[in-house]
Amino acid sequence: MSLVLGAIADDFTGATDLANNLVRAGMRCVQTIGVPQAGVDLGDVDAVVVALKSRSTPAEQAVADSLAALDWLQSQGARQVFFKYCSTFDSTDAGNIGPVADSLMQRLDARQTVMVPAFPANGRTVYQGHLFVGDRLLNECGMQHHPLNPMTDADLVRVLGRQTPHAVGLLARPVLASGIEATRAHLAALAAERVRHVICDALDENDLALLAEAVVDYPLVTGGSGLGQALPEQYRRRGWLAEVSEPGRLAPATGSALVLSGSCSRATLGQVARFLEGQPGFALDPLALAEGDAHLEAALVFAREALAKGGPALVYASADPERVQAAQAALGVERAGELVEQALGRLARILVDEGAGRLVVAGGETSGAVVSALGIRQLRIGGQIDPGVPWTQAPLDGREAPLSLALKSGNFGAEDFFSHAFTVLEEMTGEDKA
Ligand code: ADP
Repeated sequence: MSLVLGAIADDFTGATDLANNLVRAGMRCVQTIGVPQAGVDLGDVDAVVVALKSRSTPAEQAVADSLAALDWLQSQGARQVFFKYCSTFDSTDAGNIGPVADSLMQRLDARQTVMVPAFPANGRTVYQGHLFVGDRLLNECGMQHHPLNPMTDADLVRVLGRQTPHAVGLLARPVLASGIEATRAHLAALAAERVRHVICDALDENDLALLAEAVVDYPLVTGGSGLGQALPEQYRRRGWLAEVSEPGRLAPATGSALVLSGSCSRATLGQVARFLEGQPGFALDPLALAEGDAHLEAALVFAREALAKGGPALVYASADPERVQAAQAALGVERAGELVEQALGRLARILVDEGAGRLVVAGGETSGAVVSALGIRQLRIGGQIDPGVPWTQAPLDGREAPLSLALKSGNFGAEDFFSHAFTVLEEMTGEDKA
């Protein structure tokens, strides 16, 4: 069966966010880590989200990676291509949103595309081309201080104008409010004036639904995961989607339950503290890791014992800012992070080989390290645990049943996330503790 939607995401957690919304809106979805190898079998699927690391790489690299993803998605027959970036339009004057969109349009022979970063459910709205985060303009919400992509201008027509040689236009809310015909006519008028990129306003779900209806036949759309939530309904109306009662259906979960946390974000610290109120955990210390393998061995002994008792077992490097700074001062920022990521990756590898089958990982970078230590290339997206975080499953060599995996970026999830996740998995798949 050919794909309905092929998405190219500029980072890993952004890919998961989009995939999660597609499943919630009724599509069966797989997220791949990088461009899949030829001949890979992804099973029954309506949408594939290819996760790249192209947000902050040099523009030529981002373009090359995105075109490779596009080639693969086209080889699978994708009817529509979605270029996914952050709902805060994270980019610099050099790109990469403009250059990537331009190259995808050229390859797809597309006359026009839309830019729809708005995600009203998360407080991201666009009015008269200006992006708001809650009640603040983008350049006053903290994003002006971002270490990699500082956003110092909220006017997206201007921002994108610096990233592309082509004309950038605006589809403003008053036009949307006049309805679908007026919206289509406005887009067509812009296209007649050779406006290739159109920044779109959107204040709520109705605006997103109307935009989705207007652009369902575009070869390429671009935006945040809010637009991703609105498109599946349009595909259904076109008869492109099979009615599937449980698009996020996963195989029965097997194996013991393990939590690995390398995130020091405030939400994660609360989740670790909450878990430790009822159950034991092992605190990994980067300073001790730097001294040799004994500390990792001790963590393994702890985890094996906790898993043998029925788990879940928690191993965490998460620490408050003073402790993190002390480790960084002694080891250097990079080395401290590396030691923790390597240790958690090794623990994941060993404990999964020994039978852990339900794994929660906290931290964006940490998730990347664990996924790569396990050699995972694709994730089938299941139901949601907390907003933005789904359960997923990955096939693993040498294991009959897939590994169940929840990858939580730092600030996501409620305080009881580490235990709630396993309850949700049990409800979702029916538990089999084999
Ligand atoms: P988040 O999603 O919360 O930003 P990440 O995993 O992306 O989490 O980033 C956290 C970084 O901090 C990782 O590189 C991790 O290895 C590092 N780290 C975790 N614990 C410690 C610690 N105790 N001391 C120093 N660095 C740490």
